[in-house]
Formats: sequence, structure tokens, C-alpha cells
Amino acid sequence: MRLGRAAGVTDTGRRRLRNEDAFVCEPPLFAVTDGMGGARAGEIAAELAATALEEGAGQTRGMDALVALVEEANRRIWQRSVEDPRTTGMGAVATVALVDEVGGTVAIGHVGDSRGYLLRDGAIEQLTRDHSLVAELVESGVLTPEEAVHHPQRSAITRALGTEPEVEVDAFTVDGRPGDVFLLCSDGLSAMVADEALTSTIEAERGDLERAADALVAAANARGGEDNITVVLFELLEAAEGVAEEAAAPAAAEGPAPPSAAEPASLPAEGEPPVTEGDSPPQEAEAAPPDATRHGAGPGGRIAALLLLAALLAIAILALYTGINR
Ligand code: MG
Repeated sequence: MRLGRAAGVTDTGRRRLRNEDAFVCEPPLFAVTDGMGGARAGEIAAELAATALEEGAGQTRGMDALVALVEEANRRIWQRSVEDPRTTGMGAVATVALVDEVGGTVAIGHVGDSRGYLLRDGAIEQLTRDHSLVAELVESGVLTPEEAVHHPQRSAITRALGTEPEVEVDAFTVDGRPGDVFLLCSDGLSAMVADEALTSTIEAERGDLERAADALVAAANARGGEDNITVVLFELLEAAEGVAEEAAAPAAAEGPAPPSAAEPASLPAEGEPPVTEGDSPPQEAEAAPPDATRHGAGPGGRIAALLLLAALLAIAILALYTGINR
């Protein structure tokens, strides 16, 4: 198994003045955080959590280490709220995923009412349990899930990072499968968009997770956008799929250069070559970047264009040189 593409996006939504969400997209670690607290405290809490998680992304392995990392995020927010009276009572919720490509698993760490979902074989499953008042009322049978969606206290959370010196982190591991898409999101998405719409929106843009993430944000905004909306998506692939894609990428980048270098050989000698010259090489240059960008190798197209320019120059010099010699 191999980690495929990933995308993250955050949006203020339509009702809030500020965005107090943050996200981390540092493969193999992904997270969404959603801050709470007066003034700018929620924003600070979410940023402190995201920064702590981001800093630990490179060296965190396994579920226990992931829990320790979330606890570190808790400590930083708590510490700051003790030191800075303007941030007293601030906190943040967080859902974190850590992919283990070798073990083929995804560890999830979670506190609060942001969520982790798994989209597999066209069906979506909520992986995390909300630490919220309404979730507890649903579990104890006081509310139906339908009543919970519109409950006035639906944003009241029962567990958060930074409100206490210690925090209890929900943690578990999911066995990954090629084709899986994981979605981490703040409640600004899950409260606005029902599971079926999450599924259909992601499925409709399955080939491009950036677009899928944007489409989810657009769906939440189309339904009112009452809160900040944050979405992180990542996919799992067959190990072989990734290798094949990588092998194809350099070939695509190198492909255009030789034929175009041969084509313009006649250019320097003719009187009106600028049209032909201007036409064909840019097409090649434009053709390269989309593929290159998709594989995260943006400069490939520019390098191809530079090589092409160098080839043209060399041909021109050669033509000039040959001309002088005759
Ligand atoms: Mg929120």
C-alpha cells in the first residue's frame, strides 16, 4: 500500500468573520483543528495545535506516538492559556491521521467534534465519535440522530485540547486498502453536508482530490456555510500504482524535447519562422506541466522548455557557424 494524492483546504464560510480552523497536510500526517474561545483565542488555539502536529509530522510513527503528539498539542494550548490571560479558556478540537505505508494502516487520533471518515467502495463511514453533548444524548437514547442535527446545543463539545492540563485522546488504527479515500473535516462541513452528499461529491471528483476538497467546501457554503469549513482528503493506492506513475512521469517530461529540437532545425534559415517557432514549442511546454504538477514535479515543464530553448540556440549557432565557414 502506498499513500497517493492529498489535498487540504479551509474556508471561512458565509457567517463567520474569521477562520478559526486550521489544517495540516504533511504526508504521512494529516489533521484538521477547529478553535474555540473569545477574541482571537480560538484562532490561536487552532494554530498552536496545527503547529505542534506539523512539527511532529516527520518523526511520529505509530499510534502511541500519535497520541503523544496530540497530548503535546494539548499541553501547548493549555500552557499558553495559563500564561496569557486574554486566551483563558481557549481550546481546539482535532482529528489527526497518520499513514503507515509499510504496515498498511492509518492511525487516527481524535478529540472533539471534528471528524474522520473513510470512503471505501462507494460507501462512507464515520470513523470518529463526536465528543459533543448531542452525540452523548444520541448514544443514551435521549435524542434521535435527526433531532441532533438541528439541536440548539449541537456545537457544545464535551472534550477539547487545551482546556485542561491533560486530555484523553481517542485513538485507533484502520487497516487501509488501495482505493480508500480518507476525509478529515471540521464540523463546518459535517454539520452542513449529509453523509450521502459527502460521498457523491467526493465520488464525482474522485480523479482530483483538490477539486473534491473545493467541491465539499462549496457544498457546505451552498447549504448556508454557517461555520468555518476545513477539509483534508488523502487516498491510498496499490504500491505498484505509484511506481508505475513515477516511472511514467520522467518519460513524459523528456518525451517532448527530442522531436521539437528536430523540428525547428529549418527555422533560423527561413524568413518567417517566428510563427512556426512560436506555435509548436509552447504547445509542448504547455502539455508538460499538468502531468508534472499532478506528480508534484512542477519545474519539469520549465526544464523541458529551457532545454528546448538551449537546443534552438545551439542550432542557430551551428547554422551561423556553417554559413560563415562556407
Ligand atoms: Mg467549527
